[in-house]
Amino acid sequence: SLKGKTALVTGSTSGIGLGIALELAKQGANLVLNGFGDASAPQAEVSAAGAELGIKVGYHGADMSKPEQIEAMMAYAAAEFGGVDILVNNAGIQHVANVEDFPAAKWDAIIAINLSSAFHTTRLAIPAMRQKNWGRILNIASAHGLVASAGKSAYVASKHGIVGFTKAVALETATSGITVNAICPGWVLTPLVQKQIDDRATREGIPVAQAEKELLGEKQPSLQFTTPAQLGELAVFLCSAAAANIKGQAWAMDGGWTAQ
Ligand code: NAD
Repeated sequence: SLKGKTALVTGSTSGIGLGIALELAKQGANLVLNGFGDASAPQAEVSAAGAELGIKVGYHGADMSKPEQIEAMMAYAAAEFGGVDILVNNAGIQHVANVEDFPAAKWDAIIAINLSSAFHTTRLAIPAMRQKNWGRILNIASAHGLVASAGKSAYVASKHGIVGFTKAVALETATSGITVNAICPGWVLTPLVQKQIDDRATREGIPVAQAEKELLGEKQPSLQFTTPAQLGELAVFLCSAAAANIKGQAWAMDGGWTAQ
């Protein structure tokens, strides 16, 4: 049980972040949600998932590309929840273009949101974790943290970067009760991937269902999407006592993508 712990999941108004927040809530963790868009529906869903266990759910709308807003979010978590015990760095964006056509502002945004935001949340979360001698930091990387694809230079750089960051912070905290690990999903059917499927359908003039099959067939041998709930259950395991000595790993859940 994660009763009495507080989890902050960045980018949890949608997709994988919401899936992870729901599974942590089912284990009794209090939740601080974050992300863009209407937060009331996700907040209600997460509250319902943990209602029997009496969890507290909050929300902070900090933009993960803005360090001072990240500081405000961490201050909110400290003031309202007594700090963050489980930090899930999940917020992320994608943009697909060859490097010579890649908008410079998109590069900066991807590095800021997918990589630098985790530096800021982590540096601000660790002092209290050290004091309690317990903490879990989960960085949602990607199969693209381990291998590359054409057209995704910024994303691949950010995800390889966060795998490296994970290892360094795991070593810095190795003798403490803090663990730091990365999760590397393959394709998960979220809005982020739906856009890539829709773009492919338009580009190739094919039905969306066929574009979806092609996308899976290209990279993911299982031909099945990983689900946000499956990633949530992996996160729950990595928060458990059984996982206390798992440090600095990049754990794939990718239907065989990186086994090839
Ligand atoms: P998504 O688009 O469904 O969700 C992204 C979340 O991040 C949303 O809540 C959004 O509001 C939030 N967000 C975006 N920019 C933000 C910002 N500047 N500040 C705060 N919040 C912001 O995407 P998803 O597929 O659930 O992706 C979540 C994470 O998983 C990302 O880091 C992504 O790279 C990673 N990932 C996704 C897949 C996949 O197949 N979907 C695979 C591997 C890794």
